[in-house]
Amino acid sequence: MPINVTKTYLPPLEEYVKYLERIWASGWVTNNGELVQELETRLAEYLGVPYVQLVSNGTIALQIALKALDIKGEVITTPFSYVATINSILWEHSTPIFADIEDRTFCMDADKIEAAITERTRAILPVHVYGYPCDVIKIHGLAERYNLKVIYDGAHAFGCEVNGDSLLDYGDLSTLSFHATKLFHTVEGGAIIAHTPEMADKILKLKSFGHRYDDYYFAGINGKNSEFHAAMGLCILPRVDGLIQQRRQIFGWYDQYLSGLELQVPQPGNGLKYNYSYYPVVFKDEDTLLRAMNELKQKQIFPRRYFYPALNRLPFVNGAVCSVAEDISARVLCLPLYLGLEETQVQAISQIVKAAC
Ligand SMILES: *Cc1c(COP(=O)(O)O)cnc(C)c1O
Repeated sequence: MPINVTKTYLPPLEEYVKYLERIWASGWVTNNGELVQELETRLAEYLGVPYVQLVSNGTIALQIALKALDIKGEVITTPFSYVATINSILWEHSTPIFADIEDRTFCMDADKIEAAITERTRAILPVHVYGYPCDVIKIHGLAERYNLKVIYDGAHAFGCEVNGDSLLDYGDLSTLSFHATKLFHTVEGGAIIAHTPEMADKILKLKSFGHRYDDYYFAGINGKNSEFHAAMGLCILPRVDGLIQQRRQIFGWYDQYLSGLELQVPQPGNGLKYNYSYYPVVFKDEDTLLRAMNELKQKQIFPRRYFYPALNRLPFVNGAVCSVAEDISARVLCLPLYLGLEETQVQAISQIVKAAC
């Protein structure tokens, strides 16, 4: 059996079937159904945020967030993320402007934002990459000073807290992805976190073609999610604390077996309650990384180069040089981390990495 970077967690089938029975009994399969609303309520409670709007994926969540805040112009974002972060900006006819990342957290460097601001800047779109927090306080200060909106791509930050506060409670809006590869998932899905009932209602309309019943407000899109997707989320949510605990154990094994190596890992500040969503390691150079990948591949082990290349280097964007992000991107590898990965497997992976170093 190959070992991939991640493996989708599936809850006990009987639990999912119980929800299917509810769907069959009601005959209601989509369009803001009972299970979607129940999941939204439970997620708001679990995450400690005021309003959660479920959508069909994490990319449409970003696009709807940009629409909901009327963003059109330049959006300052990070070069170190999954490509969906900038695709959403481009699809909404805005221009991503890159601010380089910090060497310590791999998140956007708040001290590099100001230099990227022009009279066309409308928003800042940082990513809590791997679930590690951006400098939310500094970013908030800049947004106030320059009258900019802030949207956090929180696709990796499910359940992360800083000093007891949900990381997803910052910014004008935060978005989540509930794709099958993420820590908490609904097969496909995502969410937008809002802070006022008016904004939550606007997002509800935007994701439902821009209308409610016979009242038409604006040109919306179809960003709804179905009862079948919500059912998966409702099965997983009560188990998510346990899943995080198990990931934490695997994370600890890597820490143990990789200790003493010349590998850089993110260094978040104090006060973080982490979700153990990724295990990135930065090799001393790209050659060492490629050697490790090749050795792992011989053993059917497939880590991923999250995130490579740096987004400012993509052929369809016109990004300025971001030397830190480009350097980290070339050297970073996410090691396999999923439920059911055994200590002996972590040990074997670590040994191969060690040999390559
Ligand atoms: C997964 C991911 C997305 C996109 O989410 P989808 O649900 O797959 O559309 C966006 N941003 C980041 C940082 C991601 O990792």
